[in-house]
Amino acid sequence: MSRSRFLKIFILLLILGSALILLFLLRPTDKGKKVNVIKDNTVIETLDLNEPLQKDYTFGSDVNTVVIKDGTVEVLSANCHNQICVNSEPISEVGETIACLPHGFLLEVVE
Ligand SMILES: [Zn+2]
Repeated sequence: MSRSRFLKIFILLLILGSALILLFLLRPTDKGKKVNVIKDNTVIETLDLNEPLQKDYTFGSDVNTVVIKDGTVEVLSANCHNQICVNSEPISEVGETIACLPHGFLLEVVE
């Protein structure tokens, strides 16, 4: 391979690489603005992630306490048997979910 050809390929790769890095840096943030509260596959309420809130969702004897703060949402407490929802980290990005399978209860961050 000639030296100039090698140089051309090298420069091309450099430009491609920079473009990819730029794309990565400039990618739109996918922080969600709202959270869907879903019970048995039905959206029962859509909450604003920018409005701090604490709310109990009670269905029969099933209780999930949801907290919104600092643009994130989490399940503060629940009386389900496995406590997976309570132990889930707060979520804030579009598409993230917290599920309470025993209660058929789901939080999903949306745009
Ligand atoms: Zn649960």
